[in-house]
Amino acid sequence: MASLGWRFDHSYARLPEAMFARVAPARARDPRVVVFNHTLASTLGLDASAVDLQSLAASLSGNALPEGALPLAQAYAGHQFGHFAMLGDGRALLVGEHLCPDGSRVDIHFKGSGPTPFSRRGDGRAALGPMLREYLISEAMHGLGIPTTRSLAVVATGEAVFRESLLDGAVLTRVARSHLRVGTFEYASARNEPELLDALVRYAIDRHYPDCAAAERPALALLNQVIDRQASLVVHWLRVGFIHGVMNTDNMSICGETIDYGPCAFLERYDPAVAFSSIDQGKRYAFGNQPSIAQWNLARLAEALLPAIDADADQALALAEEAVNRFAELYRSRQVDMMRAKLGLAGDSSDDEALITDFLGWMRERDADYTNSFSMLSAGRIAAGKLESDSSLAAWHQRWQARLQAGGEPLDAVTSRMRATNPVYIPRNHQVEAALAAATGPAGDLQPLERLLDVLKRPYLERPGLEAYTQPAQDAGRGYQTFCGT
Ligand code: AMP
Ligand code: MG
Repeated sequence: MASLGWRFDHSYARLPEAMFARVAPARARDPRVVVFNHTLASTLGLDASAVDLQSLAASLSGNALPEGALPLAQAYAGHQFGHFAMLGDGRALLVGEHLCPDGSRVDIHFKGSGPTPFSRRGDGRAALGPMLREYLISEAMHGLGIPTTRSLAVVATGEAVFRESLLDGAVLTRVARSHLRVGTFEYASARNEPELLDALVRYAIDRHYPDCAAAERPALALLNQVIDRQASLVVHWLRVGFIHGVMNTDNMSICGETIDYGPCAFLERYDPAVAFSSIDQGKRYAFGNQPSIAQWNLARLAEALLPAIDADADQALALAEEAVNRFAELYRSRQVDMMRAKLGLAGDSSDDEALITDFLGWMRERDADYTNSFSMLSAGRIAAGKLESDSSLAAWHQRWQARLQAGGEPLDAVTSRMRATNPVYIPRNHQVEAALAAATGPAGDLQPLERLLDVLKRPYLERPGLEAYTQPAQDAGRGYQTFCGT
């Protein structure tokens, strides 16, 4: 049987055994490839051209594990909605780390591949709709230029999974720089074995932040790096209106990729209080809370790292606190720079923050669509007629124009900065739902999903004929709800 050409290594499996459990994937009754990401496959140096669909389905469902695979479930803990719990991969397996042609190393993960010792009360399975959802949104995030795990394939298992009703089961092949999470460190710390935490710190540094090894306090340097990446990541999320939806510490990656697409969604009308997840009753993970939640999660990472930071507990605490406190200012300054770019502003002026706040305030007041408001500004499409009937925006528009002129940049430089920052197309929640409904419906119609994926490959480039993809939901997303991807 021809194979895709995996080149597996297993560095994570060389960590102490407490960090994982070896588990084989469950057998899928009748696996069938639903989507396969040829572009990603070729970036990974994989060649699907000689592999027939049946063999592809067999290998990506786990029925015929590729040569060199050594599946394991990773142990981790996490704060879920603020409460600590021991968790672990309950329905996913790390199959191996693939070595890419460019020398990088990526985790190959099966999600929905059956029960593990960490499944608790869950069935270890995943349904087709949520796996396609992760595929679609993660690939859209990649198209938007945001660090994210990727999706190589979704294979239907040919078996039903029981949720509120019977649904088709599926396995997603997820590709990540790693699956080391804040919760991985919380787990090692909770076990109270200093060697375990030290081994994990060394591993994370070696894999993601090799420069930290030479630092005076490597664990502190690691913490600082993660803080840095996370600040940038959340700035990206706020740039495009992404709401993760379940920012538990087990869903925060150490390398700064967006991970775990469950109840995530995109903001339509601008309101920092928007939260779509059905289980997020307290709106803990609302759009505008994401920066402070990121900092809260980083504080949990800092706590877990304390014994590795310094043998003197007081000293370790002081250093960790200082590091975590730095997040707020780091985030704020990057957020202002990001908003400047969205408005096309070069350099900085003391009035910029007011200019930004006032535009957001106008959007909030008018329930204006976040994406379209910025992309209309980029396209110079805020019409004079419209402004007359909206005096607050007209006044703002004048201030904005004056600021641009004072910047002294040619218009095309301004426009190209704005166009590179403000997407025209995002995965509109109602379109995502329609595409998933068609794909999981009786006819298994994949066309809407494939079209949406195609549009979202180049989200910054406006193209004629795609106007429907810029349409907000009729109720601006008010009635929208998302569910955890179980
Ligand atoms: P999540 O909210 O998807 O990040 O998952 C949180 C925890 O629940 C992780 O330990 C998952 O592995 C586990 N989990 C989620 N769904 C299932 C399932 N269907 N079966 C077993 N474990 C699950
Ligand atoms: Mg998770």
